[in-house]
Amino acid sequence: MAAEPDVLSRRAALEAHAADTSACTRCRLAEGRTQVVYGVGDPDADLMFVGEAPGFHEDKQGYPFVGSAGKLLDRLLEGIGLSRGDVYIANVIKCRPPGNRDPMPDEIEACESHLFRQLELIQPKLVATLGNFATKLLSGKPTGITRVHGRPQEALVGGRPVTLYPIYHPAAALYTPAMLKTLEEDFSRIPDLLAGAATIVAAPEAQVIQFPAPPSPAVAAPASPEEQLGLF
Ligand code: URA
Repeated sequence: MAAEPDVLSRRAALEAHAADTSACTRCRLAEGRTQVVYGVGDPDADLMFVGEAPGFHEDKQGYPFVGSAGKLLDRLLEGIGLSRGDVYIANVIKCRPPGNRDPMPDEIEACESHLFRQLELIQPKLVATLGNFATKLLSGKPTGITRVHGRPQEALVGGRPVTLYPIYHPAAALYTPAMLKTLEEDFSRIPDLLAGAATIVAAPEAQVIQFPAPPSPAVAAPASPEEQLGLF
């Protein structure tokens, strides 16, 4: 069946946004990158994954999650009967931080509207936030992934209700068997969440992401400049 006009115009807008973003110089990461790693997958996906930032391989190839964490993500997807083509994958930060260091709060602030625009155009029903950075940014709350993983939350993204589903970052689970087991368990609930996601209504206290986005207190005002929000 042919795609609806709305889908076609959102697809075209996403392509145009990717093209615009490829020349982004909003933060210092533009200086060291090979290229902007915008995102990959179905532009009309119901399920979107949001990771942290491109690493070495992502920077070279231009696609998110193509290194060892990406191989694990592929395996987890396969385990629930999905592949990359069925979902959309993006990151909080679109350019590789030098030496794969954590993104800095001002870099997140400079980059976040790219992700918000992707969410607005893709219109996913379920957004799996991989690790602390994506979870804190999109939930608007400082609670870390260890406490919130596996617990779906309601949010309003660009006026649309979305279910946020925080799970461990695959890179963190790669070398920690207990975390991998938890990630697999959390992942196994995705099909049920997807099936029910359409009926989820935003709660009054849900995080509201507006466009253009207001500064996010979770990342714009850290307790100290040294504070780094690690993978756990
Ligand atoms: N880790 C991420 O968060 N994103 C990638 O694209 C790769 C590794």
